Amino acid sequence: MKTLCLAVCMALAAQAHEVKSLKVKILSTMLADGAGYGEWGFAALVEVDGRKILFDTGAHPNTVLNNLPELKVDLSDVEEVILSHHHYDHTAGLVRLREEMSKKNPKALQTAHIGQGAFIPRNDIEGKRMLYIKRGYEQAGGNFIEYTEPKEIHPGVWLTGLIPRKYPERNWSGSRKLVMPDGSTPEDNLPEDMTLVIETSKGLVVIAGCSHAGIVNILEHARTKIRKDAPIHAAIGGLHLFNATDETLRWTATKFREFGLQNLLGAHCTGIEAVYKLRELTGLGRKTAAVGALGGGFDLATGLDPGTIAR
Ligand SMILES: [Zn+2]
Ligand SMILES: [Zn+2]
Repeated sequence: MKTLCLAVCMALAAQAHEVKSLKVKILSTMLADGAGYGEWGFAALVEVDGRKILFDTGAHPNTVLNNLPELKVDLSDVEEVILSHHHYDHTAGLVRLREEMSKKNPKALQTAHIGQGAFIPRNDIEGKRMLYIKRGYEQAGGNFIEYTEPKEIHPGVWLTGLIPRKYPERNWSGSRKLVMPDGSTPEDNLPEDMTLVIETSKGLVVIAGCSHAGIVNILEHARTKIRKDAPIHAAIGGLHLFNATDETLRWTATKFREFGLQNLLGAHCTGIEAVYKLRELTGLGRKTAAVGALGGGFDLATGLDPGTIAR
Protein backbone atom coordinates (compact mmCIF):
# COMPACT_ATOMS: atom_id res chain seq x y z
CA MET A 1 0.00 0.00 0.00
CA LYS A 2 2.79 2.32 1.03
CA THR A 3 4.66 1.49 -2.20
CA LEU A 4 1.54 2.15 -4.27
CA CYS A 5 1.01 5.52 -2.55
CA LEU A 6 4.64 6.42 -3.13
CA ALA A 7 4.38 5.54 -6.82
CA VAL A 8 1.09 7.47 -7.27
CA CYS A 9 2.37 10.48 -5.32
CA MET A 10 5.56 10.56 -7.38
CA ALA A 11 3.55 10.31 -10.59
CA LEU A 12 1.31 13.18 -9.48
CA ALA A 13 4.31 15.28 -8.50
CA ALA A 14 5.89 14.60 -11.88
CA GLN A 15 2.73 15.81 -13.63
CA ALA A 16 2.25 18.84 -11.41
CA HIS A 17 3.97 21.24 -13.74
CA GLU A 18 2.87 20.04 -17.14
CA VAL A 19 1.54 22.97 -19.12
CA LYS A 20 -1.96 22.70 -20.57
CA SER A 21 -1.65 24.92 -23.62
CA LEU A 22 1.32 25.89 -25.74
CA LYS A 23 1.61 27.73 -29.03
CA VAL A 24 4.76 28.82 -30.85
CA LYS A 25 4.75 31.28 -33.78
CA ILE A 26 7.88 32.12 -35.78
CA LEU A 27 8.47 35.88 -36.15
CA SER A 28 11.92 35.76 -37.82
CA THR A 29 13.58 33.08 -39.93
CA MET A 30 14.93 32.72 -43.48
CA LEU A 31 11.93 31.21 -45.27
CA ALA A 32 9.06 33.64 -45.81
CA ASP A 33 6.07 33.33 -48.10
CA GLY A 34 4.54 36.75 -48.62
CA ALA A 35 3.49 37.92 -45.17
CA GLY A 36 6.52 39.65 -43.68
CA TYR A 37 10.24 39.60 -44.35
CA GLY A 38 12.67 36.71 -44.06
CA GLU A 39 16.24 37.05 -42.80
CA TRP A 40 19.12 34.94 -41.46
CA GLY A 41 17.85 35.15 -37.89
CA PHE A 42 15.38 33.80 -35.42
CA ALA A 43 12.57 34.98 -33.17
CA ALA A 44 9.40 33.26 -31.98
CA LEU A 45 6.44 34.10 -29.78
CA VAL A 46 5.69 31.40 -27.21
CA GLU A 47 2.27 31.36 -25.54
CA VAL A 48 2.15 28.97 -22.64
CA ASP A 49 -0.92 28.64 -20.37
CA GLY A 50 -1.96 32.19 -21.29
CA ARG A 51 1.47 33.74 -20.71
CA LYS A 52 3.37 35.21 -23.66
CA ILE A 53 7.17 35.04 -23.87
CA LEU A 54 9.34 36.26 -26.74
CA PHE A 55 12.19 33.94 -27.68
CA ASP A 56 15.01 35.79 -29.50
CA THR A 57 14.51 39.02 -31.43
CA GLY A 58 15.67 38.63 -35.07
CA ALA A 59 18.71 39.79 -37.03
CA HIS A 60 17.86 43.42 -37.78
CA PRO A 61 16.49 46.04 -35.40
CA ASN A 62 13.20 46.35 -37.33
CA THR A 63 12.46 42.92 -38.82
CA VAL A 64 10.25 41.53 -36.05
CA LEU A 65 8.67 44.94 -35.50
CA ASN A 66 7.77 45.19 -39.20
CA ASN A 67 6.50 41.59 -39.34
CA LEU A 68 4.08 42.00 -36.42
CA PRO A 69 1.11 43.57 -38.28
CA GLU A 70 1.26 41.08 -41.14
CA LEU A 71 1.51 38.16 -38.72
CA LYS A 72 -1.26 39.70 -36.56
CA VAL A 73 0.90 39.56 -33.45
CA ASP A 74 1.07 42.12 -30.63
CA LEU A 75 4.09 42.11 -28.32
CA SER A 76 3.02 45.01 -26.09
CA ASP A 77 1.58 42.57 -23.52
CA VAL A 78 4.75 40.43 -23.46
CA GLU A 79 6.91 41.20 -20.44
CA GLU A 80 9.71 38.66 -20.85
CA VAL A 81 12.19 37.84 -23.55
CA ILE A 82 14.64 34.94 -23.66
CA LEU A 83 17.89 35.45 -25.57
CA SER A 84 19.39 32.13 -26.62
CA HIS A 85 22.92 33.60 -27.02
CA HIS A 86 24.69 36.85 -27.90
CA HIS A 87 24.84 36.55 -31.70
CA TYR A 88 23.39 39.48 -33.58
CA ASP A 89 20.92 37.37 -35.58
CA HIS A 90 19.10 36.65 -32.28
CA THR A 91 19.58 39.90 -30.35
CA ALA A 92 19.45 42.77 -32.88
CA GLY A 93 15.75 43.50 -32.37
CA LEU A 94 15.89 43.69 -28.57
CA VAL A 95 16.35 47.43 -28.02
CA ARG A 96 13.96 48.59 -30.77
CA LEU A 97 11.26 46.19 -29.62
CA ARG A 98 11.61 47.30 -25.99
CA GLU A 99 11.52 50.98 -27.02
CA GLU A 100 8.44 50.57 -29.23
CA MET A 101 6.41 48.22 -27.03
CA SER A 102 7.09 50.16 -23.82
CA LYS A 103 5.27 53.14 -25.36
CA LYS A 104 2.05 51.10 -24.96
CA ASN A 105 3.01 49.20 -21.81
CA PRO A 106 5.97 50.23 -19.61
CA LYS A 107 6.42 46.59 -18.56
CA ALA A 108 6.65 45.28 -22.13
CA LEU A 109 9.84 43.25 -22.73
CA GLN A 110 11.36 44.65 -19.55
CA THR A 111 13.01 41.38 -18.46
CA ALA A 112 15.56 39.53 -20.59
CA HIS A 113 16.68 36.03 -19.58
CA ILE A 114 20.16 35.18 -20.85
CA GLY A 115 22.90 32.60 -20.20
CA GLN A 116 25.98 33.70 -18.29
CA GLY A 117 28.80 34.38 -20.71
CA ALA A 118 26.84 36.45 -23.23
CA PHE A 119 28.59 39.62 -22.09
CA ILE A 120 32.17 38.30 -22.08
CA PRO A 121 34.16 40.57 -24.42
CA ARG A 122 35.02 38.91 -27.74
CA ASN A 123 37.61 39.62 -30.41
CA ASP A 124 34.93 40.07 -33.08
CA ILE A 125 32.27 42.60 -33.99
CA GLU A 126 29.40 40.53 -32.59
CA GLY A 127 30.88 40.60 -29.09
CA LYS A 128 31.10 44.39 -29.28
CA ARG A 129 27.54 44.61 -30.62
CA MET A 130 26.23 42.61 -27.66
CA LEU A 131 27.79 45.06 -25.19
CA TYR A 132 26.24 47.91 -27.18
CA ILE A 133 22.83 46.16 -27.09
CA LYS A 134 23.19 45.60 -23.32
CA ARG A 135 23.77 49.29 -22.76
CA GLY A 136 20.85 50.31 -25.00
CA TYR A 137 18.46 47.84 -23.40
CA GLU A 138 19.33 48.94 -19.88
CA GLN A 139 19.01 52.60 -20.89
CA ALA A 140 15.54 51.74 -22.21
CA GLY A 141 14.60 50.36 -18.78
CA GLY A 142 15.27 46.67 -19.46
CA ASN A 143 16.83 44.26 -16.96
CA PHE A 144 18.91 41.19 -17.72
CA ILE A 145 18.75 38.05 -15.56
CA GLU A 146 21.71 35.71 -16.13
CA TYR A 147 21.63 31.93 -15.65
CA THR A 148 24.11 29.13 -15.23
CA GLU A 149 21.83 26.38 -13.86
CA PRO A 150 18.45 25.06 -15.05
CA LYS A 151 15.62 27.23 -13.74
CA GLU A 152 11.84 26.82 -13.80
CA ILE A 153 10.77 30.41 -14.51
CA HIS A 154 7.04 29.54 -14.54
CA PRO A 155 5.27 26.26 -13.79
CA GLY A 156 6.52 23.79 -16.40
CA VAL A 157 8.57 26.44 -18.23
CA TRP A 158 12.31 25.91 -17.93
CA LEU A 159 15.52 27.55 -19.01
CA THR A 160 18.31 25.01 -19.40
CA GLY A 161 21.05 27.27 -18.06
CA LEU A 162 24.46 26.45 -19.54
CA ILE A 163 24.69 23.16 -21.40
CA PRO A 164 27.47 20.60 -20.83
CA ARG A 165 29.20 19.72 -24.09
CA LYS A 166 29.12 15.95 -23.60
CA TYR A 167 29.30 15.15 -27.33
CA PRO A 168 31.73 17.03 -29.62
CA GLU A 169 29.05 18.59 -31.84
CA ARG A 170 31.11 21.80 -32.21
CA ASN A 171 28.36 23.92 -33.75
CA TRP A 172 30.21 27.21 -33.97
CA SER A 173 32.60 28.98 -36.32
CA GLY A 174 35.86 28.04 -34.60
CA SER A 175 37.59 31.29 -35.54
CA ARG A 176 36.31 33.58 -32.79
CA LYS A 177 37.85 34.14 -29.36
CA LEU A 178 36.71 35.12 -25.90
CA VAL A 179 38.78 37.84 -24.23
CA MET A 180 39.00 36.85 -20.57
CA PRO A 181 39.81 39.21 -17.66
CA ASP A 182 43.29 37.64 -17.31
CA GLY A 183 44.01 38.45 -20.96
CA SER A 184 43.74 34.84 -22.21
CA THR A 185 41.81 34.27 -25.42
CA PRO A 186 40.18 30.82 -25.47
CA GLU A 187 38.02 29.70 -28.39
CA ASP A 188 34.51 31.15 -28.30
CA ASN A 189 32.31 28.07 -28.04
CA LEU A 190 29.27 30.20 -27.11
CA PRO A 191 29.37 29.19 -23.44
CA GLU A 192 26.11 31.11 -22.77
CA ASP A 193 24.01 29.07 -25.22
CA MET A 194 20.66 28.43 -23.51
CA THR A 195 17.41 26.76 -24.53
CA LEU A 196 13.75 26.93 -23.51
CA VAL A 197 12.20 23.62 -22.40
CA ILE A 198 8.51 23.17 -21.65
CA GLU A 199 6.99 20.20 -19.83
CA THR A 200 3.80 18.79 -21.36
CA SER A 201 1.79 15.59 -20.93
CA LYS A 202 3.19 14.49 -24.32
CA GLY A 203 6.83 15.05 -23.39
CA LEU A 204 9.25 17.97 -23.50
CA VAL A 205 8.97 20.75 -26.08
CA VAL A 206 12.35 22.33 -26.76
CA ILE A 207 12.77 25.73 -28.44
CA ALA A 208 16.33 26.50 -29.54
CA GLY A 209 17.89 29.60 -31.10
CA CYS A 210 21.02 28.34 -32.84
CA SER A 211 21.91 25.18 -30.84
CA HIS A 212 25.59 26.13 -30.66
CA ALA A 213 25.87 23.75 -27.67
CA GLY A 214 24.70 20.97 -30.03
CA ILE A 215 21.09 19.84 -30.29
CA VAL A 216 21.93 16.37 -28.94
CA ASN A 217 23.73 17.90 -25.95
CA ILE A 218 20.72 20.18 -25.38
CA LEU A 219 18.17 17.36 -25.48
CA GLU A 220 20.36 15.13 -23.32
CA HIS A 221 20.70 17.94 -20.74
CA ALA A 222 16.90 18.47 -20.71
CA ARG A 223 16.32 14.72 -20.22
CA THR A 224 18.86 14.64 -17.40
CA LYS A 225 18.21 17.83 -15.45
CA ILE A 226 14.63 18.84 -16.24
CA ARG A 227 12.71 15.59 -16.61
CA LYS A 228 14.56 12.32 -16.46
CA ASP A 229 14.35 10.31 -19.69
CA ALA A 230 11.26 12.21 -20.90
CA PRO A 231 10.39 11.81 -24.57
CA ILE A 232 11.03 14.89 -26.69
CA HIS A 233 7.60 15.84 -28.01
CA ALA A 234 8.98 18.60 -30.24
CA ALA A 235 12.26 20.24 -31.17
CA ILE A 236 11.64 23.69 -32.66
CA GLY A 237 13.91 26.46 -33.99
CA GLY A 238 17.52 26.64 -35.12
CA LEU A 239 19.42 23.34 -34.87
CA HIS A 240 22.56 24.55 -36.68
CA LEU A 241 22.83 21.54 -38.97
CA PHE A 242 22.90 23.41 -42.30
CA ASN A 243 26.50 22.36 -42.93
CA ALA A 244 26.38 18.99 -41.15
CA THR A 245 27.81 15.96 -42.92
CA ASP A 246 25.62 12.95 -43.71
CA GLU A 247 27.45 11.09 -40.94
CA THR A 248 26.55 13.79 -38.39
CA LEU A 249 22.94 13.78 -39.53
CA ARG A 250 22.79 9.99 -39.21
CA TRP A 251 24.21 10.17 -35.67
CA THR A 252 21.82 13.01 -34.77
CA ALA A 253 18.85 11.04 -36.11
CA THR A 254 19.89 7.98 -34.08
CA LYS A 255 19.91 10.13 -30.95
CA PHE A 256 16.54 11.70 -31.91
CA ARG A 257 15.03 8.21 -32.15
CA GLU A 258 16.61 7.24 -28.83
CA PHE A 259 15.09 10.37 -27.23
CA GLY A 260 11.63 9.59 -28.67
CA LEU A 261 11.46 12.74 -30.82
CA GLN A 262 7.88 13.13 -32.11
CA ASN A 263 7.95 16.48 -33.97
CA LEU A 264 10.67 18.51 -35.66
CA LEU A 265 10.24 22.08 -36.89
CA GLY A 266 13.64 23.08 -38.24
CA ALA A 267 13.88 26.83 -38.82
CA HIS A 268 16.77 29.31 -39.12
CA CYS A 269 20.17 27.55 -39.19
CA THR A 270 18.80 23.98 -39.20
CA GLY A 271 19.18 23.79 -42.97
CA ILE A 272 16.51 22.70 -45.45
CA GLU A 273 18.36 19.62 -46.68
CA ALA A 274 19.11 18.65 -43.06
CA VAL A 275 15.41 18.78 -42.12
CA TYR A 276 14.42 16.45 -44.94
CA LYS A 277 17.31 14.08 -44.26
CA LEU A 278 16.36 13.99 -40.56
CA ARG A 279 12.72 13.37 -41.48
CA GLU A 280 13.76 10.35 -43.51
CA LEU A 281 16.32 9.05 -40.99
CA THR A 282 14.03 9.40 -37.96
CA GLY A 283 10.98 7.91 -39.67
CA LEU A 284 8.95 11.07 -39.11
CA GLY A 285 6.46 12.19 -41.78
CA ARG A 286 5.23 15.26 -43.55
CA LYS A 287 3.00 16.29 -40.65
CA THR A 288 5.67 15.74 -38.00
CA ALA A 289 8.89 17.07 -39.56
CA ALA A 290 9.06 20.26 -41.60
CA VAL A 291 11.00 23.42 -42.34
CA GLY A 292 9.69 26.28 -40.24
CA ALA A 293 8.67 29.38 -42.23
CA LEU A 294 7.79 32.86 -41.04
CA GLY A 295 4.34 32.78 -39.40
CA GLY A 296 4.49 29.00 -38.99
CA GLY A 297 4.81 27.29 -35.67
CA PHE A 298 3.50 24.64 -33.35
CA ASP A 299 0.43 24.03 -31.22
CA LEU A 300 0.43 21.41 -28.48
CA ALA A 301 -3.17 20.54 -29.40
CA THR A 302 -2.80 20.29 -33.17
CA GLY A 303 0.92 19.79 -33.90
CA LEU A 304 3.14 21.49 -36.47
CA ASP A 305 2.15 24.36 -38.71
CA PRO A 306 5.21 24.92 -40.88
CA GLY A 307 3.72 27.92 -42.75
CA THR A 308 2.12 27.92 -46.20
CA ILE A 309 5.29 27.51 -48.27
CA ALA A 310 6.73 24.66 -46.18
CA ARG A 311 3.69 22.35 -45.98
ZN1 LIG B 1 24.63 32.04 -33.23
ZN1 LIG C 1 21.63 32.09 -35.38
